[in-house]
Amino acid sequence: MFAFMVAFRNWAGNQTGSPSEVRTPANTGDVADAVRDAAASGRRIKMVGTGHSFTGIALTDGIMLRPDRLRRIREVGPDRVTVEAGCPLSDFNAELERRGLALANMGDIMVQTVSGAVQTGTHGTGRDAGGLADQVLALELVLADGSVVTCSADRDPDLFDAARVGLGALGIVTAITFRVEPSFLLHADERPATLTALLHGLDTLTEGNEHFEFYWFPHTEGCQVKRNNRTPGPARPLGPLRDLFNGEFLQNTVFGAICATGAWIPATVKPFNRVSAAALGVNVYSDASYKVFTSSRRVRFLEQEYAIPREHLAEALHRIRETVDSSRWRIGFPVEVRVSPADDAWLSTAYGRRTAYIAAHTFHRTPNPEYFAALEEILTWYGGRPHWGKLHTRDAGYLRTVYPRFDDFRALRDRLDPGRLFTNDYLDRILGTAASGQ
Ligand SMILES: Cc1cc2nc3c(=O)[nH]c(=O)nc-3n(C[C@H](O)[C@H](O)[C@H](O)COP(=O)(O)OP(=O)(O)OC[C@H]3O[C@@H](n4cnc5c(N)ncnc54)[C@H](O)[C@@H]3O)c2cc1C
Repeated sequence: MFAFMVAFRNWAGNQTGSPSEVRTPANTGDVADAVRDAAASGRRIKMVGTGHSFTGIALTDGIMLRPDRLRRIREVGPDRVTVEAGCPLSDFNAELERRGLALANMGDIMVQTVSGAVQTGTHGTGRDAGGLADQVLALELVLADGSVVTCSADRDPDLFDAARVGLGALGIVTAITFRVEPSFLLHADERPATLTALLHGLDTLTEGNEHFEFYWFPHTEGCQVKRNNRTPGPARPLGPLRDLFNGEFLQNTVFGAICATGAWIPATVKPFNRVSAAALGVNVYSDASYKVFTSSRRVRFLEQEYAIPREHLAEALHRIRETVDSSRWRIGFPVEVRVSPADDAWLSTAYGRRTAYIAAHTFHRTPNPEYFAALEEILTWYGGRPHWGKLHTRDAGYLRTVYPRFDDFRALRDRLDPGRLFTNDYLDRILGTAASGQ
């Protein structure tokens, strides 16, 4: 096991930390040793993923475990695959594809580790298929006493339901078993639309497509709609030039330049938004599912995302549009809208309800806390649940009103980690510092 000192900085650059020690465990035994060492030396301990959370959820002042040597595939079956916790989703997808397998659904990017993504409830969009935690069949965890447990729907079901979106608060995940299926192709249809038309057609669009989402460019009517549905094929990927032009040039290089200009000259934001909405144009193609679900994101941004009951989506978006229109803000980043079926992980943002997600972004150099606060006020009015890895201001007092099993999660945490080995400032805020009965 290697040990050395470095500071931690997340992808967006808004969270930094200085752990007292950094280790890179190579197996579950190394993780258990590190947990025992942390307890014996009175320090806290946390494993990080790739630092793609915008909140301080991954920070620790104690021992930081890096995931880089925990990335092997352990076991492959026709409908389940066990992978070590630190495997990046990109490697996992490539391995699955090689074996003719795939995950049912994915988020926007695939650079995160499997465990980092699962622990914060990372999701994409889906009518029938939920987020990543909903595709988990079993978890191997190292608990605060250094013991190793495996939980599933049949084996310690409470721990399984709590630890799937466990926020890193219940233990260090060392391996995850995912439900997989034969690999499949998605037919992608991406095209511009107006916000007014989308708001009128939301039910048809969300019910009529397996994976529906859209981006709305604030201050304009302009939206880009994405509809992904399974197809028997054959695959017709975007040509390499079109892919480069659309994915890299338009969505990263040009968009990055637009954001940088908007940061210097805010008056350019509105006209640029109109141009951006139109420029993305129409793309119709089909490809391996994970390639259609994900893209590369090189323009750094800050993000806040709330999950609300699906039935309030249109009304919430109306209110957001009115708020943006009556403000003096210049919002250069689109608002992203996605959906999910209900699921049953206790702290999943889609727990027990059909869900719509509304995500606000700003360029990383021009944070706009007023904009995020205004949207947060609207979305919490609908009982909104913040994404655990994205910026928000909620605390345990609020969160227990929107998660029916919140106190059960806290009671389990009291039992498993009474000494709060796995906590940090962010977890203290969202889960509270006191024992759950107080
Ligand atoms: C560009 C970008 C795009 C994104 N797109 C999406 C999206 O489409 N959908 C979505 O829902 N989210 C999205 N996110 C958010 C992102 O998926 C989550 O924040 C995710 O947690 C990041 O994974 P990570 O590997 O970077 O984990 P980190 O951010 O490093 O860690 C997240 C949490 O997981 C814990 N953790 C990591 N490994 C372990 C382990 N082995 N055991 C216990 N706890 C562990 C950490 O301690 C921390 O608490 C996006 C973020 C960015 C920056």
